[in-house]
Parts: sequence; structure tokens; C-alpha cells
Amino acid sequence: MPPISPSVSEELRKRLQQARADLLDAVRARTGQQDDEAPAIGPLAHLGQGDDAPQSEMLSHNEARLAEHESSLLHEIDVAIGKLAAGGAGICESCGRDIPEARLLATPTVRLCIGCQEQREQDQHSGRGPSM
Ligand SMILES: [Zn+2]
Repeated sequence: MPPISPSVSEELRKRLQQARADLLDAVRARTGQQDDEAPAIGPLAHLGQGDDAPQSEMLSHNEARLAEHESSLLHEIDVAIGKLAAGGAGICESCGRDIPEARLLATPTVRLCIGCQEQREQDQHSGRGPSM
């Protein structure tokens, strides 16, 4: 028996795919704007490459900058979509218990139950420990 009902699963799939499309649109729009606003004096200017400055290098530089936050979010979305397709959505990755559907609907990319989420945040706030 699946941990979440088919209707909730379908709703989550829709939201995740919408979030994915929105994210890619935002990245594309920002990339285009950055191309227009490309500053004449940038981090590469001091290299003195002049006309030979490779365009591809600047492009990848822009992509790297905007990907910091968005690529990790995109990864979260892809993982959540994959889990939905595999039937593993709605199960806490840490303790294996069911994640409440309301929590899933509020945050479709959620991977932990509330208890494990709080535990993890406490661990992060209290430091990583002296040694492993
Ligand atoms: Zn848990």
C-alpha cells in the first residue's frame, strides 16, 4: 500500500513539475538579462585578453553564479519527482516513517518527517562535532 493516496501523489507531481518549470524559466530569464547587462569591467578584465576574451568562459561564469541556489533547488525537485515515480514519496529518509500528506503538500520537496527535520537542524546548530 502506497504511503500517500493517488490524488495527493498526482497533486505533488503537478506542483513539482510546475516548480521545476518556473525555476528553469527564472534561470533562463536571468541569464538573458545578465548577458545584456554584462559589465565592461569584470573579474576577467585584468587578464588583458582584450578581443580574445572567450565568450563561453563568461557564460559559464554567469551560469555558475546563478546556479548556486537554483541548481540545488532543481536537484531537490528532481529527487522528489523521482521518488514520486518510484513510489517512495512520503517516507522519511531518516526514520522510514510516513510523512503527513499536509506536510508534503506544504513542501513537496520535503524528505524528512518533522521530528527528524528538527533533530537535523539542532545537530547543525550545535556544530558538527569534534571528530568523526
Ligand atoms: Zn523521520
